[in-house]
Amino acid sequence: MKYDYLIVGAGLFGSVFAYEAHKRGKSCLVIDKRDHIAGNVYCEEIEGINVHKYGAHIFHTSNKKIWEYINQFAEFNNYINSPIAVYKDELYNLPFNMNTFSKMWGIKTPQEAKAIIAKQIEELHITEPRNLEEQALSLAGTDVYEKLIKGYTEKQWGRPCSELPSFIIKRLPFRFTYNNNYFNDRYQGIPIGGYTKIVGKMLDGIEVKTGTDYFQFKKDKPDIARKIVFTGMIDEYFGYRLGALEYRSVRFETEVLDTDNYQGNAVVNYTDREIPYTRIIEHKHFEFGTQEKTVISREYSSEWKVGMEPYYPVNNEQNNQLFEKYRELAEKENNVIFGGRLGNYKYYDMDKVIESALETVDREFR
Ligand code: FAD
Repeated sequence: MKYDYLIVGAGLFGSVFAYEAHKRGKSCLVIDKRDHIAGNVYCEEIEGINVHKYGAHIFHTSNKKIWEYINQFAEFNNYINSPIAVYKDELYNLPFNMNTFSKMWGIKTPQEAKAIIAKQIEELHITEPRNLEEQALSLAGTDVYEKLIKGYTEKQWGRPCSELPSFIIKRLPFRFTYNNNYFNDRYQGIPIGGYTKIVGKMLDGIEVKTGTDYFQFKKDKPDIARKIVFTGMIDEYFGYRLGALEYRSVRFETEVLDTDNYQGNAVVNYTDREIPYTRIIEHKHFEFGTQEKTVISREYSSEWKVGMEPYYPVNNEQNNQLFEKYRELAEKENNVIFGGRLGNYKYYDMDKVIESALETVDREFR
């Protein structure tokens, strides 16, 4: 046994674990099947701009301990996420707030906005929503649903809202103030220099092998470490023996444009069904970039099949039950810790995945 830990996955979970184990004098080897570190928070520099290769990542948290933890590795800028929604030729602020309502109905006060929404909801007479469409209508009224929710959600899930379960939308983030800050969290920003640098610092002094798939690697070196921290897909670990867990995937079309400012905002959502992509990200605006060129990424939501890049777990009842069965298998697996978004089949924001890695560290080294 050459190492105390073999850590599979150089994303945030694996890297936080590796950093903490290394700090405690443990020997670690980190492997990742991709040809780079940082997992899904990886940034690739193009034209001097940090391009969020696997989707836009904005760090936000209300957990002071996690905020201080991540700030050991980078300084954060004061970026505040304030997306714009484009519906046909209309433009709205997100999240749904007084700027949105004022533009939609030509009104000024929260009382007027609340009255319009309440009237629209009342006229629908929906008592028990049977699907996502009815659920969203009963929470938002007709206008907000038709213009800002319907098309976007249908593109995200690849099917009509009337065929989607209502649990997907539990509540809607209505705000009756003129506040375009998407998040309610106390702390928010983008790391200056990008996320890859953060992970690079975490892995400083630790042996890392990229372009190395665990399943191939273990055939050649089955006894290389005392323990394994596995942050890949839990169902793949068990050879999909109980079936595959479902995901939604995203396809990114990234383009360098010969203009210094394409859309004037980092995040622009396209909420009508006719436009095939869900959002356009203009990466430089995350860092108030002044480069001569710009880089944009169009995001297309897509169906997922085994072998494709998994992005969002589909946490319906069927998949959650299947995950539970895999979790039971995982518990019987000696000397393997499963973690991260793929190991736990769970959507984690970055702060939550760091928190989960630190809890695992506490359990492991108490
Ligand atoms: P990952 O980063 O996916 O790391 C797992 C690593 O394991 C990968 O690098 C993978 O290549 C490797 N791996 C898998 N299988 C194997 C194998 N067999 N052998 C070797 N290596 C393997 N969070 C926020 O807080 N703010 C946001 O704005 C935000 N935006 C997001 C946007 C999108 C489109 C998505 C999908 C997620 C977003 N998140 C955001 C969540 C964030 O990406 C996650 O919290 C974080 O990346 C999870 O880290 P992880 O280590 O669990 O997983």
